[in-house]
Amino acid sequence: MPDPYEELLKKAYTNITETKGSHERFVIPDPKVYIEGKTTVFENFAEIADKLNRKKDDLMKYLVGELGTAGKIEGNRAVFNGKFEPSSLNSMIRNYVEDYVICSECGRPDTKLVKDGRIPVLKCDACGGHRPVKKRKVKTDEGPKVRFEEGAILDLEIQSLSRRGDGMIREGKYTVYIPGAKPGQKLKVRIARVAGSTVFGEISQ
Ligand SMILES: [Zn+2]
Repeated sequence: MPDPYEELLKKAYTNITETKGSHERFVIPDPKVYIEGKTTVFENFAEIADKLNRKKDDLMKYLVGELGTAGKIEGNRAVFNGKFEPSSLNSMIRNYVEDYVICSECGRPDTKLVKDGRIPVLKCDACGGHRPVKKRKVKTDEGPKVRFEEGAILDLEIQSLSRRGDGMIREGKYTVYIPGAKPGQKLKVRIARVAGSTVFGEISQ
């Protein structure tokens, strides 16, 4: 004879885990990135491309473009020439998801990339919405007031928080990410890496 209270608990628990399960596909695994000799290995590249439901070649093309280097797909991993911070790739994946995966109408990732003539369009299976893929155009006429150079230490004021919880600053065409920094803080920041218009800083002690 099953205890009705226990049955109830069991049912409640099942409901909780089911709810959790339906959100699980929104979670993108953190890129596993390490440096090997003069290259950077993105260990779970294929897993992430798969999770995003994007072709490995498409994601690769995006990443080499953003990193400004050459690279190749080797089975499940991607290998890039040069040494890159894991946080650079992390941030690029996040930008990619925002621009090439997430539907701006309903915020779901159930989308497809299709071509409308030569323009890539993001089509949403969940709500039917579609929009041209946002291009992060680098404006050359809009020079920043601050020069971001790798290794430079700058006095910066944190403006906001990124989705991931890193401190963020927008300056001209640049977006600066500083892990551990909070909006409003004025900090000495060491510029760790500049990848196109994405800048990665570290709080300098
Ligand atoms: Zn949608």
